[in-house]
Amino acid sequence: MSPILIIAEHRQGVLNTDTFGLLNAGIEFAITLNTEAHVAIIGQNSDNLAQDVNIAGIHKIHTLSTSLPYTHNVYVKAISFLFNKIQPSSILSLHTSTGADYSPAVASILNLPFLPDAIAINYTNQVEILHEMYSSKLHAKIASSLPAIITIRPGAWPNDTTPGNAPIEPIDLDITEEPINFKVKNYEETPIGDVDISTSDLLLSVGRGIGEETNLELIFSTAEAMGATVSSSRPIVDAGWLPKDRQVGQSGTKISPTIYLAIGISGAVQHIAGIKNSKVIISINKDPKAPIFGVSDYGVVGDLFEILPFLIEEFS
Ligand SMILES: Cc1cc2nc3c(=O)[nH]c(=O)nc-3n(C[C@H](O)[C@H](O)[C@H](O)COP(=O)(O)OP(=O)(O)OC[C@H]3O[C@@H](n4cnc5c(N)ncnc54)[C@H](O)[C@@H]3O)c2cc1C
Repeated sequence: MSPILIIAEHRQGVLNTDTFGLLNAGIEFAITLNTEAHVAIIGQNSDNLAQDVNIAGIHKIHTLSTSLPYTHNVYVKAISFLFNKIQPSSILSLHTSTGADYSPAVASILNLPFLPDAIAINYTNQVEILHEMYSSKLHAKIASSLPAIITIRPGAWPNDTTPGNAPIEPIDLDITEEPINFKVKNYEETPIGDVDISTSDLLLSVGRGIGEETNLELIFSTAEAMGATVSSSRPIVDAGWLPKDRQVGQSGTKISPTIYLAIGISGAVQHIAGIKNSKVIISINKDPKAPIFGVSDYGVVGDLFEILPFLIEEFS
């Protein structure tokens, strides 16, 4: 069987640490297929990054240097080239905004099956991934023939690694700006907001259960009474009700407060990914079957609009 090809993720010369979970997923899959696990580093600083991904279980590292920063077209072109050169059994990437940006396009161009956002990968006569749907309420199994393009959920595999000594093989590919139809001019760090939720010890986090933006007033009054900092799930940020720096979760901030109070939050995996290091998790949700209760130390089943006024009274 030909090797598994893992695409390392990095930005501005720094490896995304979730890449280690991705490497472990690729190594595990390669062992299942009784084949080798290869890594590709595409872009800037690839020689240095090759050292970072040189972990036990990796058989070869391919570096494909270009001075161009990440764009959809650079990656689609580079990965299509690598696929034709290495003929891997599958290509694995992270299911991040970057991985989800290029992977479906690579699958489409190479006419291969695309298996997104895997939390487990199995193989019998074909590859089968486990994929969560509807805020983790449903587990779907998606199967296809090999080779396939697979993205894996950040955090679904452990990040633990030990150093390895895989050979590093530079690959020449002249990636010009053609046919790139957009260009990264520069990166700007997101401005630091009025609060830093990563350092707060008591977080009161609000989710879609709040219903309407005007109801946030109740959340801020409760937080003020308790001396808590307000954070939120992603839909609240997507709706523009709170700034991005208040978002907790996989694509937000990973927090580690002493107490995390989740109010009207269902507990989707992407949210849980950000709260796992909280010492005590307390949830208020009117749905007794909400997944958030599965990770909570204390849970209150009830209507937040009835419960929060009691909290304000108690703490004022
Ligand atoms: C790539 C990707 C990255 C993501 N990153 C993140 C992330 O970083 N952070 C994040 O949070 N999400 C993230 N998401 C979105 C995530 O999948 C969920 O959609 C989101 O977390 C759901 O937010 P929620 O719990 O507020 O809303 P919902 O899932 O709609 O839950 C609302 C909850 O409120 C409860 N409720 C309703 N009314 C009341 C009431 N009156 N009193 C009490 N309870 C009530 C309901 O029972 C329900 O459980 C990501 C998704 C993807 C695909």
